[in-house]
Amino acid sequence: MKILITGGAGFIGSHLAERLLENGNEVFVIDNLWTGRLANISKIQTHERLHLVIDTILNESVMNELIFKADQVYHLAAAVGVRNIMDHPVETLDTNVKGTEVVLRLANQFKKKVFIASTSEIYGKHVEHDLSEEDNRVMGSVKKRRWAYACSKTLDEFQALAYFDEKRLPILIGRLFNTVGPRQTGQYGMVLPNFVQSALLAKPINVYGDGTQSRSFAHVNDVVEAIMRLMAEPSAEGDIFNVGNNEEVTIKDLALKVKEMTGSDSEIDFVPYEKAYGPGFEDMERRCPNISKLKRTIGFEPSYDLKSTIQSVIDYFKE
Ligand code: UDP
Repeated sequence: MKILITGGAGFIGSHLAERLLENGNEVFVIDNLWTGRLANISKIQTHERLHLVIDTILNESVMNELIFKADQVYHLAAAVGVRNIMDHPVETLDTNVKGTEVVLRLANQFKKKVFIASTSEIYGKHVEHDLSEEDNRVMGSVKKRRWAYACSKTLDEFQALAYFDEKRLPILIGRLFNTVGPRQTGQYGMVLPNFVQSALLAKPINVYGDGTQSRSFAHVNDVVEAIMRLMAEPSAEGDIFNVGNNEEVTIKDLALKVKEMTGSDSEIDFVPYEKAYGPGFEDMERRCPNISKLKRTIGFEPSYDLKSTIQSVIDYFKE
């Protein structure tokens, strides 16, 4: 099959590209290298079935040609990283809203199936329970910049569902929860690569807030496996799926685990949110997926637990 990955030089996109090539597909990657890196695809860049285009998904003539050629599209290109989003609100909205609009409009023109990478961020400030696909969203004030990202991705979901309902375009939406693994950089704020790098360099591990906020981390290999299986499952079309791992950990415990597993002497420092992200920042207290729909639909079980996930990130940075 010919498959287009937008954002294919990104952390998740590059792992997906590798898997799709392994399975014998011809893979087209478009990436503007905003947060994507050529280093992510160095192993496959010269592969005879990989075609790399360095350009923005907002370039409609390039996208027109790529989507025309492709049998399927995995749309992963988006603004990523809380720090990056706080620093670049205009690019965030442009990429996430206009970019997805371009992808869906052109995919509809040629009737090509599209996977839309969405995010757990769209659930907003839930605290009560594990999050299911039908749950309400709890958004903060428009004055809090963080929520622009959640709203832009929510609009992506609405756009995709609209194309499915009104135009019969085959789409499906994966709400990716915190995804980690080799090649993820800490540059855009992500917690695990930052903790591991600090621990290995014996620098302070900076826990933002009081560390009681929790997350659930999925290994990128599990996430890629899940989204490929969703794309191959006809009953998943037109629907939304949480994609992640439901083993929950507080950020303070994550810091302690990283410290223990690296044998590091690093101090654990508690940094106020305001100092980390600037004034008016709101965090999500809890974010754990209910993945029963994913299990029911494709029989998916995560194959990495938290410990093996952390270990793979440690091994990567040691290398
Ligand atoms: N965090 C932290 N130290 C860091 C980076 C992040 O304590 O160096 C916290 C952050 O405030 C959040 C959690 O770790 O509560 C996860 O942050 P990340 O940016 O990785 O993802 P998010 O789930 O917030 O999108």
